[in-house]
Amino acid sequence: MLGLMQDQPLLITNIMEYAALNHKDGEIVTKAVEGGIHRTNYGEIAKRSAKLAHALTKLGLTQGDCVSTLAWNTYRHLELYMAVPCMGAILNTINPRLFPQQLSYIVEHSEAKILFMDLTFVPLVDKLIQAFPDQFSAVKHMVIMTDRAHMPASLSGTALENALCYEELIEAEEDTYDWPKLDENTAAGLCYTSGTTGEPKGALYSHRSTVLHSLSSCSKDSLGISKDDTVMPIVPMFHVNAWGTPYNTAMSGSKLVLPGADMTGENFYNLIKDEGCTISLGVPTIWLALLQHVNSLGDPDCTQLPIQSFVIGGSAAAPSLIESLEKTFNAAAVHAWGMTETSPLGSVNRQLAKHVNLTDSEKMAIKVKQGRPPFGVEMKIVDDEGNKLPRDGVAFGRLMVRGPWVTKAYFKQTDHNILDDEDYFDTGDVSTLDPDGYMTIVDRSKDVIKSGGEWISSIDLENVALGQADVAEAAVIGIAHPKWQERPLLIILPKPGANPTKDDILGYLDGKIAKWWTPDDVVFIDQMPHTATGKIQKRDLRETFKDFKFTT
Ligand code: ADP
Repeated sequence: MLGLMQDQPLLITNIMEYAALNHKDGEIVTKAVEGGIHRTNYGEIAKRSAKLAHALTKLGLTQGDCVSTLAWNTYRHLELYMAVPCMGAILNTINPRLFPQQLSYIVEHSEAKILFMDLTFVPLVDKLIQAFPDQFSAVKHMVIMTDRAHMPASLSGTALENALCYEELIEAEEDTYDWPKLDENTAAGLCYTSGTTGEPKGALYSHRSTVLHSLSSCSKDSLGISKDDTVMPIVPMFHVNAWGTPYNTAMSGSKLVLPGADMTGENFYNLIKDEGCTISLGVPTIWLALLQHVNSLGDPDCTQLPIQSFVIGGSAAAPSLIESLEKTFNAAAVHAWGMTETSPLGSVNRQLAKHVNLTDSEKMAIKVKQGRPPFGVEMKIVDDEGNKLPRDGVAFGRLMVRGPWVTKAYFKQTDHNILDDEDYFDTGDVSTLDPDGYMTIVDRSKDVIKSGGEWISSIDLENVALGQADVAEAAVIGIAHPKWQERPLLIILPKPGANPTKDDILGYLDGKIAKWWTPDDVVFIDQMPHTATGKIQKRDLRETFKDFKFTT
């Protein structure tokens, strides 16, 4: 027998309309790409999204069509996040930091009909179209996300000659729209992985997966976003939906602070202080930039600022980073894990009641874990044959996940099965699971160092090395070894002005790691390569050090 409750579809439209009805005055603050601070609210965003939907309809956009964006975290991008999926079209947010070939590949593969871009990216798009005209042939319109006064002085002779101006485009349109009642499984958003191996692959989110992900992320044991919060996503809206913040803030009615194109520690600090942010989210390199800025100001007392939590994900949060953030701001550093294919929230680190009386160092041993999955995400670890491994916090294996906001197939690759026979998706991460449900990433499967039949976690070594006072960034890669197959090489970017030696570093590691994990050598570099999403680019390091030979 079936239940007798209403079968209302779960739609992003409901999030937008709920926000406009119930917290229309809730503020959205943007550090504008054109400069200055822009203020609006959820009521205005809904009206302008309706205007945008009318304009897009006139440009010929229909249900199932794709709109791509190259844009920062701004209110206009938020309007696209609402209008495009609510019309039944698909919003494809592209990471502008990808290689030109990858960017062009994504525009072609997504079959984008309209391309929106911030002013910052006009020269990039011009170059891309000149270099890869065929890949852009399906793009019928381009829109620059600004007003007439800030449109580039001259676009003649460029590939953007006919580009439209966002504000002009929506100006005369009506501010209500008859949003269609869509099937909740309708595609809503399309994000490509950065394609560290092969071409980028598209994760295609649905309205249903997005709403469920948003509901889950608002819960207290997840991100805990509520009407009382002021949320600043520094994680970009061009990468995995800024970890869901455009939708969960609208759902909860929290004030939203968008840092725009200004990715400096100074901007983050000023916005935290001036706008009263309580939660901010970003990758470790963002927090390093923030801490460096505070340091450059002579370490003012930040403990009275309202910030309560820094959510850290994207790559592992080292104990030294967690400690610095917590001490400097008297706030919680909350470690989270996820990936493009998991919408992205897969786990969030929150303490259990039984942890309250632990010592600081015992608490730190828990905080560095990647956290527990929220209800809805199931995890298991398996060996290379797919056999389940124990959840004892010791055994480690391939991390497999399943749930209503986890990818079941890549865009346009539905004939390629990416799930195991229990419908779990292989994350490409190696991890442990402990009896309390905490998951700890040991490594990405391709980064783990295989030494004499045992595995060495590059993340664990990096985390320890980062505790040395002279170390700004640390990366460990495996170097081929005639006897042990691979041995670790530790690559260090020293802090500005610091000049550590190999002995300083190895001396620091001594006693903090198993003897056989000790790197066979330490090298110093003056620039650390990063990926499009701010992680250390190990592929480049492997290339740079491909001929490296250990001397001992
Ligand atoms: P990209 O590879 O394009 O940056 P994702 O954002 O999807 O794409 O990256 C997901 C991967 O990032 C995860 O599979 C994992 O390896 C890594 N990752 C994410 N969060 C963490 C974390 N808290 N600790 C360690 N690794 C993480």
